[in-house]
Amino acid sequence: MKIAVPKERRPREARVAASPETVKKLAALGATVTVEAGAGTAAAMLDEAYKAAGAEIAADIGPALAAADIILKVQRPEAGEIARMREGATLCCLMAPHADRATAEAAAAKGLTVFAMEFVPRITRAQSMDALSSQANLAGYRAVIEAAAHFARAFPMFMTAAGTVQAAKCFVLGAGVAGLQAIATARRLGAIVSATDVRKAAGEQVASLGAKFVFIDLKDGEGGGGYARALTPEEQAQQAALVAQHVKNQDIVITTALIPGRPAPRLITKAMVETMKPGSVIVDLAAEAGGNCELTKADEIVRHGNVSILGFTDLASRIAVDSSALYARNILAFLTPLVDKESKSLKPKWDDEIVRGTLLAKDGKLVHASLVPAAPVPAAAAEPPSSTPTQAPEPATATPTEVPQRPSASVPPADDMTIVPLRRPSSP
Ligand code: NAD
Repeated sequence: MKIAVPKERRPREARVAASPETVKKLAALGATVTVEAGAGTAAAMLDEAYKAAGAEIAADIGPALAAADIILKVQRPEAGEIARMREGATLCCLMAPHADRATAEAAAAKGLTVFAMEFVPRITRAQSMDALSSQANLAGYRAVIEAAAHFARAFPMFMTAAGTVQAAKCFVLGAGVAGLQAIATARRLGAIVSATDVRKAAGEQVASLGAKFVFIDLKDGEGGGGYARALTPEEQAQQAALVAQHVKNQDIVITTALIPGRPAPRLITKAMVETMKPGSVIVDLAAEAGGNCELTKADEIVRHGNVSILGFTDLASRIAVDSSALYARNILAFLTPLVDKESKSLKPKWDDEIVRGTLLAKDGKLVHASLVPAAPVPAAAAEPPSSTPTQAPEPATATPTEVPQRPSASVPPADDMTIVPLRRPSSP
């Protein structure tokens, strides 16, 4: 079982898909691991450490790519990399297939078996493989650190002989994995924190982290599986009024609101930014999905009046040592059960819930339910016509296996700022 770990080639990517720790464990599973020279340098994982863990270091990864059974990457490969891979090899990475379907199709056409790490089902058994959560957690942390670095004031309150420095006020929009970590981090830094979400249940978690929950009382803000739904125009107007009122008293705004398969909801308008205090900072974690703030530009810092809007899309990469270490463990946890102990080769059980949920391409085709149109329903089985107008169908976002359900238990205690995403149990 030959594994290749190339250096990441996309801009602003400092992470690496295997760490010396996971290389050692992959070798113990019977793999020969080849790491491209310098692949981990930006994440402080040096060639010598990989060598000591049992990896071969290749100045040119080409031959290892051409021979590999498994290729481990963080970001989806570029066309040139796909061309160098062997037909029938297995590729594990974050494929972003909804944003870049062409690359997913090229990988499928090359005959690769592709596992998209963002599709790991959010079930208990797959908790250690959940790359989306591990990276969002660190991105939420880093967003607050970036905000603090661009804020020309302190976060905590200081009492000094020369007078009192007031604590910063921080407002977090969207209390999912990234948002909860942003709340916890801003609280640790001493800010006065408030947060909002359309999911009422998020309120308990927000409160448990010592922040105030600001909420428009929606009957049901969930779209299914614990994710948010898109709001109606009336609800959007209600939320906009609440946000407009709240935002003008804030120093820091961290936006993380996302709706699966849709552009990010627009929550902060230009007019709202213009009401904010001079020196305020907005960090928009939804920049890649179009931004929660009207003024956000992906990968840029926009200054509007005296407010800075940070649209970094590489927040996890900005904390590359930890994000690489966690991502590498996610991959190791995903691969380990796929390896046959006897033959020391990859033998996935194709009907396994995690394998099925994560599989993006196989046998020359895209196979993931979110990318392949569902088979037409036979006429006899179709719903009878309804007299009430039906809603437009939601865009396909995932297989039923991959959307999390959010049980109401397991809220972390107030003095423990560990972010534990709520999970649904694995099916037997
Ligand atoms: P996400 O990245 O899809 O969205 C971020 C947050 O934005 C969500 O909390 C969402 O409710 C919120 N949001 C959407 N529209 C909004 C709006 N208009 N205004 C304010 N907030 C808005 O979410 P996520 O971090 O992936 O988490 C989604 C759910 O999945 C949560 O319930 C989380 O607890 C759960 N989860 C489950 C597992 C698991 O293993 N089962 C793992 C991680 C997360």
